[in-house]
Amino acid sequence: KKIVIAIDGYSACGKSSTAKAVAAQLGYGYIDTGAMYRSVTLYFKEHNVSLTDPKGIKEALKVIDIRFKYNKQEGVNETFLNGTNVEKEIRKMYISDAVSDVAAIGLVREAMVEQQRKMGKKKGVVMDGRDIGSVVFPDAELKIFMTADVRIRAERRQKELFEQKQIVNLEEIIENLRKRDRIDTTRAESPLVQPEDAKVVDTSFLTFEEQVGEIVKAAEK
Ligand code: C5P
Repeated sequence: KKIVIAIDGYSACGKSSTAKAVAAQLGYGYIDTGAMYRSVTLYFKEHNVSLTDPKGIKEALKVIDIRFKYNKQEGVNETFLNGTNVEKEIRKMYISDAVSDVAAIGLVREAMVEQQRKMGKKKGVVMDGRDIGSVVFPDAELKIFMTADVRIRAERRQKELFEQKQIVNLEEIIENLRKRDRIDTTRAESPLVQPEDAKVVDTSFLTFEEQVGEIVKAAEK
């Protein structure tokens, strides 16, 4: 029986790479909800939408269209904002710096959650984010809460950025992760919380294969 797997946790714990691998092993779809908040952030920046202008935000949300398309050649899902491939752009530091403030806006969350629920309706989906097990799919059959030491997370993220030819100082990344975790856990709208019924996976000392294996095993139970 196909289920919904909700993966939540702090920034840069390896949620998306883990979720992708779990989805591939189970033959499930994968939805990166962080990419959706990142795309909204990019749109707001490109169109000078002010975070304190509810009317402007509402108008913008009406025309923002976010889709995921599978790139066969690369074997990855890519994010499209109003028809443009923004996969690379939304991973840049200036978006990471701004995204948590955008994701704290109730109007933005409402719109994203609505789309996420539609995307997950078919079941057989792995969705990663901050509020998937708590808000988007509170009835998800399997909830995972991922966590890891902040320095280890930063080192992994630095390596990832380096592979994309972006050189970023480790302290800058640590600061960005701390800031995002703080905003995500203290915001009024759907703060990041560990669902009571979630299985906690601390990836500090797990290999990638181990963390994927744990989740696949739990899904097959
Ligand atoms: O997962 P990722 O780090 O790409 O997410 C970027 C940001 O989007 C997070 O720091 C968080 O502020 C926000 N987010 C959220 N709810 C989600 C997914 C992401 O608030 N479900």
